[in-house]
Amino acid sequence: MKIICIGRNYAAHIDELNNSRPDSPVVFLKPDTAIAQSNLPFFIPEFSNDVHYEVEVLVKINRIGKHIQAKFAHKYYDEIGLGIDFTARDVQQALKSKGLPWEKAKAFDGSAYVGNWVKKSDLTDLNNLPFSLHKNGEVVQQADTSLMLWGIDALIAHISQFFTLKIGDIIFTGTPEGVGSVAKNDLLEGFLDGQKSFSLTVK
Ligand code: ZN
Repeated sequence: MKIICIGRNYAAHIDELNNSRPDSPVVFLKPDTAIAQSNLPFFIPEFSNDVHYEVEVLVKINRIGKHIQAKFAHKYYDEIGLGIDFTARDVQQALKSKGLPWEKAKAFDGSAYVGNWVKKSDLTDLNNLPFSLHKNGEVVQQADTSLMLWGIDALIAHISQFFTLKIGDIIFTGTPEGVGSVAKNDLLEGFLDGQKSFSLTVK
């Protein structure tokens, strides 16, 4: 399986990192080794002094497809989740400034944390789905999917022009504003549509 991630999909997050608004979705990949073991803490890697959390709505692909039209995209998933795209921000800034690829900053072991999956039929409205991340009991990120520049079906249409989607692939749909650093012993809790999706400690 592969993990397809979207960058710069929320206007307020683009502004907080002083990035420009893209004309089409920013797409990058993580390998399957990036998936974090859900029963273990997140371990801050030695190569970074500034790892950021990025809470994101996740989509699990349930059938193979290529060149999927947006109007049919809803047939390609029936589970939605919430996860964290852990990002070594210091490493990413160094790579970005040199115009180099981001993988060392974005695709390292454990960088893709995946919470519980929920049937989409159990969610209120996929186009207006509230979610949040709490750090040590305080809300640090809070948004809903109506704020995405490209919604889930538009993302699937775009991604599948380039990459064949396969069963089990996971799309990370981008993070809203409020990203920040993690420190040892932080407790990260994610909420999707009012339900707790995950609870994760940082080590
Ligand atoms: Zn992200």
